[in-house]
Amino acid sequence: MTAVTYDELKQNIQGEISLSDADRTKYSRDASVFEILPEAIVYPKNVHDLQQIVKWASKEKANSPGLSLTMRAGGTDMTGGSINDSLILDTTAHMNHILDIGVDYAVAEPGVFYRDFEKATLDQGLLMPSYPASKNICALGGMVGNNAGGEKSLSFGQVVDYVQELEVVLADGQAYTLSPLNEYELQQKMRLSNFEGNLYRDLYHLITRNYDLLKQAKPTTSKNSSGYFLWDVWDKEKRIFDLTKLFVGSQGTLGLISKIKFRLVKPKASSQLLVIFLNDIKDIGHIVDVLKHHQPESLEIFDDHTLRLALKYLPEMIRKLKGHSLKLAWEFLPELWMSLRGGLPKLVLLAEFTGDDDDQATANLTQAQKELTATFRLKTHRTRSLVEAQKYWLIRRESYNLLRTHTKDRVSASFIEDIVVHPEQLPEFLPRLDEIFARHPEFIYTIAGHAGDANFHIFPLMDLTQEKEREVIISMSEEVYDLLIEFRGSMSAEHNDGLVRGPFLEKMFGPEVCALFRQTKELFDPLNIFNPHKKIDANLDFFRKHVRHN
Ligand SMILES: Cc1cc2nc3c(=O)[nH]c(=O)nc-3n(C[C@H](O)[C@H](O)[C@H](O)COP(=O)(O)OP(=O)(O)OC[C@H]3O[C@@H](n4cnc5c(N)ncnc54)[C@H](O)[C@@H]3O)c2cc1C
Repeated sequence: MTAVTYDELKQNIQGEISLSDADRTKYSRDASVFEILPEAIVYPKNVHDLQQIVKWASKEKANSPGLSLTMRAGGTDMTGGSINDSLILDTTAHMNHILDIGVDYAVAEPGVFYRDFEKATLDQGLLMPSYPASKNICALGGMVGNNAGGEKSLSFGQVVDYVQELEVVLADGQAYTLSPLNEYELQQKMRLSNFEGNLYRDLYHLITRNYDLLKQAKPTTSKNSSGYFLWDVWDKEKRIFDLTKLFVGSQGTLGLISKIKFRLVKPKASSQLLVIFLNDIKDIGHIVDVLKHHQPESLEIFDDHTLRLALKYLPEMIRKLKGHSLKLAWEFLPELWMSLRGGLPKLVLLAEFTGDDDDQATANLTQAQKELTATFRLKTHRTRSLVEAQKYWLIRRESYNLLRTHTKDRVSASFIEDIVVHPEQLPEFLPRLDEIFARHPEFIYTIAGHAGDANFHIFPLMDLTQEKEREVIISMSEEVYDLLIEFRGSMSAEHNDGLVRGPFLEKMFGPEVCALFRQTKELFDPLNIFNPHKKIDANLDFFRKHVRHN
């Protein structure tokens, strides 16, 4: 193998390449438990650059078998998805333009930060509702790459439900538009005698020959980001073949996304928040059930660790709320008072009710509150102002970020952090999960997430300088995923597989379905250029080699 030189690439692209140690170190981490030092960082300027990069990499691959391309947007991936040992392509530097906002859609480049996108769409009275809690630090390409979800997924689904069209650069270095095709359009594609034609033909046959197997493999949970979503490509009834369904959630392992067209919705005019304080987790399944009868738009949860951190770092929280500092500090008085008296609740549930006007939203909230307090002995509180509601939303959205940035001697380790089951199974599932945690009393666990979808973000606080604790990541993953499979849950609702869950895909989907995932990867990426070591290409050796030591 010869060392890669970048002279030819530099001449053929308009963007820049950095080989500096500082940049390589900066890009060696995302929000996962891994650290992988890349060779170089490329800042592509446009789709033409992406095409040149793919063509160059395909040519160079024969001399440098380790050469690969990993796309990066905000770099907040929790699975190791946006880090790798070869070239990292950061789209946020240049490919960050919103190109069009129409009556119910928007077209943008993958490096646009969601916070900027949201501001622009809200200015037009529109929203892409499946945004993650990391909405202020993540970008569109990563949201599509992971099939992100968030606080509104309970009512609005995931990113896959909002992608109408993708422009992608595939392994032959050409740019293609992916969109839903009717049978005639599909036939036209399959007739082509080039890379695209082969791809459509081979995929069509792979999917139709294994149609029942794939349909059965589709996780039945309300959310899923695990595996390749082959089960959704061919709609047999409507006769529609849609490769966007496969590309969303593929973490840049099948090709590079250069443009995204999203469907947008009109947000409801009124929103009211009910806050429910719980002292243990055991009734949560029943409480969620009662609340869901009243159709909340969101049903979120965070725990006492999060609340304590929010109070400890109050000035930072106040800064993020943006407004009059003293007034905002006043908003936190009830929690500060609870904390001083040692009465912080173990868990806080947020139920948001929306409507076309205040009366509609309030009516649903009042009924839900009445039924809850009649059935369970618990404290509830209806927020009195927008600022007060924003305070609770901020704590929820910042739950993991607070842990990640302020837990000094421990790492809030993401590996079983995105499990999802069926909400009605919670009463049976949670005690079983607790038995696993009881076998590891050395860790504190923090919980936040999307209670309405039964999607919990659980982070053990770990000392990764200890090899013993690093090994627990693998053994505990095995234990938790075995349990999940019993309940027909999914390893990942919205964060995806990456390196952290890729090695367990066979456990979840079985060897036959994984063989189809592998064939799919080979059809799109015969030279294994696109984000290797992730999803179906992940393995425990690479995993062990790159788990962070601090
Ligand atoms: C504090 C915090 C809170 C979070 N909360 C949530 C949450 O509520 N819901 C949720 O779903 N996730 C959450 N996440 C995980 C993560 O933020 C999201 O999945 C987010 O959408 C990733 O976006 P990003 O821009 O950071 O992507 P990146 O980390 O840069 O990339 C994510 C994946 O997409 C691929 N990718 C990026 N751009 C492209 C492209 N142009 N073409 C092809 N592939 C591409 C990357 O290779 C990588 O595999 C959270 C993370 C943090 C740190």
